[in-house]
Amino acid sequence: MHATDTLAEADRLMTVCNSCRYCEGLCAVFPAMEARRAFEDGDLNYIANLCHSCGACYYDCQFSPPHEFDVNVPKVLAKVRADSYAHYAWPAMASGLFQRNGLAITLIAAASVAAFILGFVGWADPAALWTGNANPGAFYKLMPHNAMVLLFGLSFLYAILAITMGVRRFWRDIGGADDPMASDQMGWGDIWQAMGDAGRLRYLDGGGAGCNNEDDRPVDKRRHAHHLTFYGFLLCFASTCVATLYHYLLGREAPYAWTDLPVVLGTLGGLGLVIGTAGLYSAKQTRDPMMVDQARLGMDTAFLVMLFLAGFTGLALLVLRDTGLMGMLLAVHLGVIFGLFITMPYGKFVHGIYRFTALVRYAAERKAHALLENGNGQG
Ligand code: SF4
Ligand code: SF4
Repeated sequence: MHATDTLAEADRLMTVCNSCRYCEGLCAVFPAMEARRAFEDGDLNYIANLCHSCGACYYDCQFSPPHEFDVNVPKVLAKVRADSYAHYAWPAMASGLFQRNGLAITLIAAASVAAFILGFVGWADPAALWTGNANPGAFYKLMPHNAMVLLFGLSFLYAILAITMGVRRFWRDIGGADDPMASDQMGWGDIWQAMGDAGRLRYLDGGGAGCNNEDDRPVDKRRHAHHLTFYGFLLCFASTCVATLYHYLLGREAPYAWTDLPVVLGTLGGLGLVIGTAGLYSAKQTRDPMMVDQARLGMDTAFLVMLFLAGFTGLALLVLRDTGLMGMLLAVHLGVIFGLFITMPYGKFVHGIYRFTALVRYAAERKAHALLENGNGQG
């Protein structure tokens, strides 16, 4: 018995695929499936988080719709994956945020932006609010640096805690040990392997040909857009970290000159976020509707919009910081970033963390499998 009809359907598909095995060279899903004879809910959540929705198995399959077997692996695994985010959410009472997620994130983000605008209007130096100023310390006339660090530091720490608690439950459910690094199932090599696989989106290439996003002609547009988004996000994060070091170690206050490292990193990251999320949104619009989980479109779109706005408002602030719009743009940018932080554990952001965790498990599993085969070969 499975907890949901979606998990029962995933079990049916994996049972069909396990008899067929035509797609075993396409991605990590099929080898993980072949290592099992029966599928518990945890196994299905693990397998679903290995899938990158490249679509190759849908177009290669002789049993895909309109065949009566109705084998649609990308769509069903996308549903299982999305349900798994809610299932493992921490605290459990927050899992409801995954229902109507697009609306929930929109409302939280709008409230966050409104709170920063009202806060600035209510408490900031009125002269500073409407005056363009790109001199060091200008931002902190609108919001004290310590208040920024406290607010964003706490929200970020909460996001890390909530995501860690969810991943811990996921890890146990998919067969990982309570203490991962003490386990003989996993080592640093498996983490390294998973970092490489996640970093280059190894399983988004349909076994080497490319992603079948729109039709049976594989292309790499979706992977390139994802790379721009992911590495853009990392560059923005690096920019924030370097700016913090500038502030505390060098005593230099933002805003910084165009050639300073935090601005260079932030500009490249912001461009990556804007162009990458636009590309991902475009890929979503042109995706074959047969593979789309319509119920989760809101969650996917809300996450893309939040990342786009984070990049766009950051770039706008950079370009217009010595105009009268600086105060308002800073309020909007901080509101978007704060909204992004507090909704991180309850939106599409977690897909990267769960996927990475599944890839670590997969690397450990393949290593154990290879050791067993070598042992049998020598025996
Ligand atoms: S997706 Fe279709 S072709 Fe591929 S393994 Fe499953 S049943 Fe076979
Ligand atoms: S990654 Fe691609 S080939 Fe593998 S299960 Fe998902 S859609 Fe199918």
